[in-house]
Amino acid sequence: MPTHAHRTCALLSIGDELVLGQTLDTNSKWLSARLLDLGVRVIEHRTVADDLALQREAIATLASRVDLVISTGGLGPTADDITREALAHAAGDELVEDAAALAEVEAWFARSGRTMPDGNRVQALRPAGGRCLTNERGTAPGLALTITAGPNACDVYCLPGPPHEMQGMFEAFIAPSIRRAPGRTVVARALHTFGMGESAIAGVLGDLMRRDGNPLVGTTASDGVVSCRIRFEGEADEAAAQREVDAMAERVRRLLGDVVFGEGDDTLASVVLDALRARRQTLATAESCTGGMIGQTLTAIPGSSDVYAGGWITYANQMKSSEVGVDPALIERDGAVSRSVVLAMAAGALDAIGPTGGSVDHAIAVSGVAGPGASESKPAGTVWIGLASREGAPEARLFRFPGGRNTVRVRTTQVALALLRRRILGLAERDWLWEAKP
Ligand code: AMP
Ligand code: MG
Repeated sequence: MPTHAHRTCALLSIGDELVLGQTLDTNSKWLSARLLDLGVRVIEHRTVADDLALQREAIATLASRVDLVISTGGLGPTADDITREALAHAAGDELVEDAAALAEVEAWFARSGRTMPDGNRVQALRPAGGRCLTNERGTAPGLALTITAGPNACDVYCLPGPPHEMQGMFEAFIAPSIRRAPGRTVVARALHTFGMGESAIAGVLGDLMRRDGNPLVGTTASDGVVSCRIRFEGEADEAAAQREVDAMAERVRRLLGDVVFGEGDDTLASVVLDALRARRQTLATAESCTGGMIGQTLTAIPGSSDVYAGGWITYANQMKSSEVGVDPALIERDGAVSRSVVLAMAAGALDAIGPTGGSVDHAIAVSGVAGPGASESKPAGTVWIGLASREGAPEARLFRFPGGRNTVRVRTTQVALALLRRRILGLAERDWLWEAKP
C-alpha cells in the first residue's frame, strides 16, 4: 500500500433503487459522519444507477481527484451487480477468482446448511491488483484497490449496500487503515440539547461559535434535538487536543445548563431509562395520540425492561375508562384532550399496573390532536402531557406542536420524555419551545 495521507474522500452510492427514489441513501450520511470523526474531509457524494459505463466513469473520475473513494452497493450475485466489473475497468485490470473469498462465500452458505448457488460464484471475483474484504454479516465480499493516475494515488474501497454489512466492513477494514496527514489530530464531542431552538442556542453560545475557532463549535438539528458539536482539528498531540475540546465542552455546558441532556450516543429515552435505573424507579405509560410511540421508543433500547413496566394505548374514549379508569363523565364534560383527562390517565396508569397494582413510581399520559384537521374545536398539534409520580404533585402541560401528523407524534414523545427527565432529576421548571397557554 502507498503511504499517501487520506485528506479527501468521495462517496459513491450505486443502485437503480437509489436514483429512482425507492431507497433513501443512508449509507452516505453514515459514512460522512464517521469519516468526519476520523479527520477525513468528504468533498463529494455521487449516486449512479446500475450501469457499467456510469459506474466506471464515476470511479475513475473520483479516484483522480481524492485520496479515498468508498462505494456502496452492486456487489450482489445478480446481473445488475456490476461494481466488480466497473472497478476493474476503471483500474484497467482484469477480473480473477479469489480462492479465499470463494471459500468464504461457500462457508457462509454451509453455516446455514445450504450449498452455494452457482450464481454466487461471481462474488469471489476481484480485480487482479486488488484484494477481497471479508464480510462477516453477508455473502458479498468487499473490494480494495489502489488506483494510481499520474502523481495521484487513490485507495478505492467497494462495500456491499445493506447498511449493517457496510458498517461492519467500514469499521473492520477502512477505519483502521485511515492515514491522517502527518501531525494532524482530530478530536470531537457532541452535546445534545432538547427544548431550545437552534437560533436561541446560537444566541447563548455567541462568540464560541466563531467560524475560525479551533475547537470549532457548531450546531446541528435533527428531529427536534439540537446538538452542539465541538471539534478540534489541527497540529497538536492527542491529549492536548482532548483537553481543549473538554474545556470547550465545559463552557458550552455552563452556558446552556440543563437543556443539555446527554452526549455521544445518548438519547432522551436512554437518559430517562438511566436516571430511573440509578434510582431503582419504574415507569408506565398511557398513550392516546402517540399510539404507543413512547413505549416503542423506550423498548427500542435493550435492557429497558427493568425500568419500563409497560403501558396502554388508550385511543378510544371507552379504553381510557376501561383500561386506566378515567371517569366517562370527565371525558364528557372536558373532552378527551384536556388537563383533567390527561391527569386522570396518568393517575390511572400509576395505579393500574402490575399484578398487585400500584407498583410503578412514575406514569406518563398523553392525549392530543395529531392531525390533520381539528377535533373538539382544537387545532391539530394540540397535545396535553401529564405526569404522575408516587411522590410529588402530578402535573399537566399543554403544547401546540407545529408540523404534520408524524412530527406532532414524535415531538409529543420527546417532550414527554424530556418532562419526565426534569421531574426525575429534580430540575427547575423552564419554558418550553412549543408550550401553549391553556
Ligand atoms: P446491493 O449491495 O446493491 O445488492 O444492495 C442491497 C440493498 O442494500 C439494497 O436493496 C438497499 O436496500 C440497500 N442499499 C444499497 N445502497 C444503499 C444506500 N446507499 N443506502 C441505504 N441502503 C442501501
Ligand atoms: Mg444493487
